[in-house]
Amino acid sequence: MEKGTQEVSVKVRPRLAIDGGTPVREQFLPYHRPVMGPEEEAEVLDTLRSGWITSGPKAKKFEQEFAVYTGAPFAIALNSCTAALHLALNASGIGPGDEVVTSPFTFASTANVIEHVGAKPVFVDVTPDTLNLDPEQLEAAITPQTKAIVPVHFGGHPCDMVPILEIANRYGIPVIEDAAHAFGAAYRGRPIGTIGAATCFSFYATKNITTGEGGMLTTFDEHLAQRVSLLSSHGIDKDAWSRYAKDGSASYEIIYPGYKYNLSDLQASLGLSQLKKADQFWLAREEQFKFYSEALKGIAEIELPVVRQDVKSSYHLYVIQLRTELLNVDRDAFVKAMQAENIGVTVHFRAVHLHRYYAETYGFRRGMHPAAERASDRVMSIPLHPGLLQEDMLLVVEALKKVVECTRKSGIV
Ligand SMILES: *Cc1c(COP(=O)(O)O)cnc(C)c1O
Repeated sequence: MEKGTQEVSVKVRPRLAIDGGTPVREQFLPYHRPVMGPEEEAEVLDTLRSGWITSGPKAKKFEQEFAVYTGAPFAIALNSCTAALHLALNASGIGPGDEVVTSPFTFASTANVIEHVGAKPVFVDVTPDTLNLDPEQLEAAITPQTKAIVPVHFGGHPCDMVPILEIANRYGIPVIEDAAHAFGAAYRGRPIGTIGAATCFSFYATKNITTGEGGMLTTFDEHLAQRVSLLSSHGIDKDAWSRYAKDGSASYEIIYPGYKYNLSDLQASLGLSQLKKADQFWLAREEQFKFYSEALKGIAEIELPVVRQDVKSSYHLYVIQLRTELLNVDRDAFVKAMQAENIGVTVHFRAVHLHRYYAETYGFRRGMHPAAERASDRVMSIPLHPGLLQEDMLLVVEALKKVVECTRKSGIV
């Protein structure tokens, strides 16, 4: 339609970009962009010029500063959150014949690492509001083979940890948290990273602070910390930094066939600078989250994310759920329509138990975890990151309203 060509008494639907209409934004707005500035550049350059670029003093410093930030006694820098989860399971002695209880509403890593140690993932459905593991359904999933519980703080909203810990303690099972989304979050005043037996963070490019790729494991348990550290560098009793030092001993001993999961000083340089900006990033995220919640309220076709009273969210994601029963398109078509409007959106997550490997290996199928499946078909994440401009958030809202208006079932005016 031409702009302003006619005086209309009846509201005319705009034409979707996917149907040949004009997109809401002229150029594509990426779903995410890391915020990197001169501080990161200077820190990386300093490392490059230092002559030591793999794990060394910067990785150590990043561990120390991360421990201070989260309040955790021990922090071990690793090359991903996946590695942190894997080592947490391995160091807890979990292996073939064991079961690990987790949420089906998560990324591949959470379930894959359970496979990596040879154990079996046992999924417990989520609560429909937070999309976090439902503590009320947890106990029924525990068997004598259960060796760990891995809650996932979805979108940065902490799980309801009191009942989870109560059950875990009663059965003597460690809680290993997937906190990939939850850096900076807190539950009843306790920072995430200081609650479970081990907490695993991600510094993947889209996470709240990033090192490109990277992760961190925090724990209270010194023995676990030592074991994870050993496992992260081939199970060798001395790290490279100390072997190559002037007074270092060049000899070493392989104590266990470990892994190659160390975080390099180049990556840690980014982490050190990002950590300094963490509070500022969180404030920006909170403001954006609230902006969306205000701007999108009252649209019947869109369910908004909730934040419970007793938590501090990290506001990692802004996940809406489409009431697809009110629309004449499914979620995937809605996503395509948003992308055509030049708004980058994505899906967190498709329920893991429905993915081919898990469905075929264990016979998992639809109907087993209804809340996760319902969310799996309806969720869509819209852009949220500290570098996002207010004018772009307005366009995200405009595009959402446009696509809803053009796809609502009852919307013929
Ligand atoms: C990103 C993510 C991970 C994996 O993090 P990596 O650092 O990429 O290994 C694990 N769990 C969840 C829920 C994630 O979103």
